[in-house]
Amino acid sequence: NKTILLNNRPNGKPQESDFKFTNEDTPEVTSGEVLLKTRYVSVDPYMRGRMSDADSYVEPFQLQKPINSGIIAEVIESKNDSFSKGDFVSGMLDWKEYQTNNGNELLKVDADKAPLSAYLGILGMTGLTAYFGLTKIGNPQKGETIVVSGAAGAVGTIVGQIGKILSCRVVGIAGTDEKGEMLKSKFGFDAAINYNTTEDMTKAIADAAPNGVDVYYDNVGGTISDSVHANINRFGRIVVCGAISLYNSTSIPTGPRVEPFLIKKSVLMQGFIIGNYADKFPEGMDKLSQWLKAEKLNFSETIVEGFDNIPNAFLDLFEGKNKGKMIVKV
Ligand code: NDP
Repeated sequence: NKTILLNNRPNGKPQESDFKFTNEDTPEVTSGEVLLKTRYVSVDPYMRGRMSDADSYVEPFQLQKPINSGIIAEVIESKNDSFSKGDFVSGMLDWKEYQTNNGNELLKVDADKAPLSAYLGILGMTGLTAYFGLTKIGNPQKGETIVVSGAAGAVGTIVGQIGKILSCRVVGIAGTDEKGEMLKSKFGFDAAINYNTTEDMTKAIADAAPNGVDVYYDNVGGTISDSVHANINRFGRIVVCGAISLYNSTSIPTGPRVEPFLIKKSVLMQGFIIGNYADKFPEGMDKLSQWLKAEKLNFSETIVEGFDNIPNAFLDLFEGKNKGKMIVKV
């Protein structure tokens, strides 16, 4: 029973050597428990924060203990009345091939309604993050312009599509031309900007958003965001969802001050964590499932095969190797 532990707390960019593989006996199921076989593993940028021991909104991973993340698992044996053999469940579970669980925090997922992996993406935390961040903080109005950074990733692709459903102009920022093409052809974005090849990002954003930026959904932070901020409109809203460009920094770089434009333009800038909306998750899930069923939402996944490749799939997030949600199929 392979298990992946946190071996070191990374300094800067995480490495393969920060993870350790061990082999344990498959646990026995006791009364009230289920035995789970891991099927799909979510790897997510926020996990970089949990690899360090800095104080945060979620507990750090412990050294030499299993790493955990969102996982879809199959119940292969049950001594818990709420679950039967063959059920699929989603939960925060350890990076183990097999594990027992008391079921208290597992959610059953329906393989007939959507592909199982979708419960880690569009019908999971990712979809909810896009939905609540955009609608509750961004509050986009018909005809407004939304700019999304990290646009070709799991959250970004969904944010852009919700923006289109809400009749906005949507501009995506991503790391390759191929991703930009995908944003336009598959996800209906109006324009895309490749931050790796564009010299003057501030001008490129001004060109792609001729009426200025009303809502900026920020997944990356750093200099990309500085250039979007330079184009923000009066009463604009900045949704600070993530800052992946800073997650591996050993010191936070200084950027332009935000106070002058926040004041001059009466801009709202708000960070959030998806847990803030936990009491509204059913509303979000309903909306996302309806849009998915009505084919108003599309989704992309990068599926990496094999338990042994979980750490590399995580590391690849920082190299932009994924389009849409990065998932490991075990
Ligand atoms: P993604 O699927 O977007 O994967 C990460 C992407 O980030 C990569 O594909 C890459 O695309 C881009 N990227 C990597 N390094 C950099 C860099 N240095 N500068 C700019 N872009 C970079 O991940 P998610 O959709 O799961 O998450 C997106 C963001 O949302 C993350 O910052 C994450 O932490 C945050 N998040 C926040 C939540 C919350 O509750 N607030 C919940 C979930 C996610 P490219 O090729 O374009 O560079």
